[in-house]
Amino acid sequence: MKRCFYCTRKPIVYLRYADLQLCEIHFINYLENRVRKTIEKYNMIKSGDKILIAVSGGKDSTTLLHILYKLAKEYNFILHGLTIDLGIERYRSYIQVAINNYKKLGVNYTIFDLKKEYGFSLDDAVKVFTNRKPCSICGIIKRYIINEYAYDNNFDRIATGHTLDDITGLLLFHILRGNISYLPKLSPVLETKHKMVTRIKPLIETYEKDIELYARLKSFSIDTNKCPYYHNAIISFYKRIMDKIERKSPSTKILFLRSTLKRINPYVKGILEIQNIKMCKKCGMPTTKEICSFCRIRQVTLNGQQVK
Ligand code: SF4
Ligand code: ZN
Ligand code: ZN
Repeated sequence: MKRCFYCTRKPIVYLRYADLQLCEIHFINYLENRVRKTIEKYNMIKSGDKILIAVSGGKDSTTLLHILYKLAKEYNFILHGLTIDLGIERYRSYIQVAINNYKKLGVNYTIFDLKKEYGFSLDDAVKVFTNRKPCSICGIIKRYIINEYAYDNNFDRIATGHTLDDITGLLLFHILRGNISYLPKLSPVLETKHKMVTRIKPLIETYEKDIELYARLKSFSIDTNKCPYYHNAIISFYKRIMDKIERKSPSTKILFLRSTLKRINPYVKGILEIQNIKMCKKCGMPTTKEICSFCRIRQVTLNGQQVK
């Protein structure tokens, strides 16, 4: 009879990339330790840190919220949740799911209402920018709001739920396009510069399949609805390609990530430093242009003229 690698209990999962079969208890320990090791290996958290976690209500950020909550005492940091109400009319369930999780854990949180604070919603911007993928507009908005909130409220770090699957999908996408200067942005830790708060990705070495199983075993409340713009997300295509490669050759994703960090990033890291950073003329946040991408999206959306 098959047994867990660590005990005599029946295994519930076989992790091909690690050649391990584990029972429920040891799988849960394994996953939490994997995140703990990632945090330590990349020096992500310091004692006394004030950490802002961006929670979208999906399995990844919700799992990260629960694990960081568990680790907050051990590493001595303060955790605060941020969820953005993007104003997507057909997709609102994630906000309540995020609130349920914050309340269950007793984690302080903020719901940031984009329309109320900045006068436009993601739906408004998508209608105006007909030439752009909704997810790329959304990404700019989310990055801006999260950073601005963290900066204004003196957070030391921003934790995001990017997984190994997300990052390797993005690596593949950017490498195929020769966007080499973008690669350092996908690092486990992106250090503070100008008014950018340090970003950490504690799930960067964790597979989404494992996160899904962990969330199921722990019965977290997760938003299973999909954003109506999701089918347009180009990155999901590259993630599927990486899934196919991983099926043929287990642990490719982890090797891809580590080899890029080790062999490519040191050569291109300097590019980020020499970029000509200015302060946005509208909001004062760092940008490489006169007006930052967020302010441009806002300005054009409020003007209401379609960009084709
Ligand atoms: Fe934003 Fe795209 Fe995610 Fe929808 S699927 S929330 S548009 S990034
Ligand atoms: Zn076991
Ligand atoms: Zn700006």
